[in-house]
Amino acid sequence: MKKVALVTGSSRGIGRAEAYRLAHDGYAVCVNYIRRKDKADELVSLLASEGLEAMAFGADVADRDAVDAMVRAAEDAFGPVTLLVNNAGIARQFQFQDITPEYWKRIFDVNLGGAYNTIQAVLPRMLHEHAGVIVNTASIWGLHGASCEAAYSATKHAVVGLTKSLAAELAPTHIRVNAVAPGVIDTDMVRPLGEETLAELVKRTPLDRLGRPEDIAAAVSFLASEQASFITGQILTCDGGFVSL
Ligand code: NAP
Repeated sequence: MKKVALVTGSSRGIGRAEAYRLAHDGYAVCVNYIRRKDKADELVSLLASEGLEAMAFGADVADRDAVDAMVRAAEDAFGPVTLLVNNAGIARQFQFQDITPEYWKRIFDVNLGGAYNTIQAVLPRMLHEHAGVIVNTASIWGLHGASCEAAYSATKHAVVGLTKSLAAELAPTHIRVNAVAPGVIDTDMVRPLGEETLAELVKRTPLDRLGRPEDIAAAVSFLASEQASFITGQILTCDGGFVSL
């Protein structure tokens, strides 16, 4: 069966590195974006120039109809999705009392609702095949708490719960469900923290550097591979030792 990967939020950052890596692992890759069509198209062109299959799909993962339409279009283009990487996510720092109801709803709709929408969209074909791999994206703040991260941390703790429960439910069908829990990774998401805070975070990282998107892509590549065929329900922390040590 053709290997087809859908990576949500893969126009930039960690998702982009994952899509690039998975294309090199032999997947036809669906590159999802919400706003930066230019970046998604750029990645698709780069992969095409390397002789690899990819296509860009715009959809807000929080929008169920848009996700269903994206998955239908992806299946029409490449066939059933065999690997779903739920990567799209948003984050902003707020003191708890400053979190608006709108932001609270939006971050849950994207970070958790996005996974719900995409999993339900791809699952019927995976169940039919009794095969498939799902990799969700948690965070070190999905395992620990952090000041000014209550909403984000709550969504990522929920992603951990979703991953473990769904792994248990789907194990009899041989569909594996795992998550990566990145530490501080050098992407647009963390740049608003500023140079000083980022330098402080590097100091707190035993391996003494920010993570690279490629570090997370390597972990996803492993979890998706046959080498991980006996691994399900795991949260693979990739954080340079930030919270693990
Ligand atoms: P990023 O640099 O901000 O990139 C976000 C990506 O997600 C972009 O491709 C963006 O698309 C897409 N996106 C955002 N909202 C979307 C939506 N509603 N529907 C579809 N796509 C959407 O973020 P990142 O740092 O790569 O983070 C990726 C994932 O890793 C997130 O789940 C994040 O929580 C998690 N994570 C990151 C870190 C870190 O330190 N960076 C640490 C732990 C966990 P456009 O380009 O179209 O805007």
